[in-house]
Amino acid sequence: MNIFETLYNEVIGFFGISGIIEMVQKNDYSSLTTLQGIQKIIYPIIPLLLLLEIIRAVVYKRFKIEDYSMPFLVFVLNRFISRFISIAAVAFCIGLFEKYALFTTTFTWYWLIYGYIIWEFSHFIYHFLAHKVRILWCLHSTHHAPQQMNLFVNFAHFFLEAPYADVIRTSICILLGVNPGLLFFIMFIDGFWGSFIHIGENGLKDGRLGFLNKLILTPSHHRVHHAKNPLYMDTNFCNLLNIWDKVFKTYQEERDDLKIEYGITRQMSPHNVLDAYFGEIICLAKDVYRAPGLKNKFLYCIMPPGWSHTGEHKTAKKEREAFLEKEQTSRGEAVQYKTEPVRETPKELF
Ligand SMILES: [Zn+2]
Ligand SMILES: [Zn+2]
Repeated sequence: MNIFETLYNEVIGFFGISGIIEMVQKNDYSSLTTLQGIQKIIYPIIPLLLLLEIIRAVVYKRFKIEDYSMPFLVFVLNRFISRFISIAAVAFCIGLFEKYALFTTTFTWYWLIYGYIIWEFSHFIYHFLAHKVRILWCLHSTHHAPQQMNLFVNFAHFFLEAPYADVIRTSICILLGVNPGLLFFIMFIDGFWGSFIHIGENGLKDGRLGFLNKLILTPSHHRVHHAKNPLYMDTNFCNLLNIWDKVFKTYQEERDDLKIEYGITRQMSPHNVLDAYFGEIICLAKDVYRAPGLKNKFLYCIMPPGWSHTGEHKTAKKEREAFLEKEQTSRGEAVQYKTEPVRETPKELF
């Protein structure tokens, strides 16, 4: 296979249009009445939206190559090392846990709702742990490293993250009775929506999607999730139905008075792909090396990022609490300031 053929196949594969090309070439559109046929049509929407997002950014003179280069290089790196690991992990977990399922569901609308709620629960568990267990944060932080939001950020993941996420999500869903057919269908919807919520300000300025912001998880919620502002960090872990964020009190709406700052809190070279990929692992290794005693070394691996053996923790929870406290104090002061003249006036009159 020559280089041009390889590149052609990569581009076709990326845009997911091989299914449509095949239909056009054979002049056979009968598969459009099947679920697989519909998936063939839906799959290219995200890559095409990405293209539109880039075109809009160029037209409005907001295009910066650095905003796309790092997530793009992570994507290329992953293409070389992780092609099939994730698919194998899903198949392995289905084979392992299907016989232990609590009960079996069928492919009906009510089981779809049940399946989706369970899927979101399993996604919440995986995503929450990815932020709260430092060794897992090492895998997930690559996705949070970009300092801008655009559809390419969707492809920026450490290569071991997908198998880890799929092991957790598939195992929980299969054990709670979601049958594999239903699971794959849910994974497809989740894949589409999970990609779409990464649309950046160049593609969609206000990500709230109107009234939908109150019902489901929108790009605006996911922008908040990617922010490093103390109020926004470690919130909105869900993907489409944000019920579990509301149940576990990790729900946070975008505030007009608090502009989102994308990225992670540690100092990093903003466009260095190796720093995005391995930076957190190196930081953890340094902390483990310097920590006194085996217990502390172990705790650095499992405690949330920002935990310190000295007790001077700088975790997201602490930062958020400090922010809210400061905000409440300054609000209190403002109220006091406003009410003071009212109290003072009678004194001055006499
Ligand atoms: Zn995350
Ligand atoms: Zn994301």
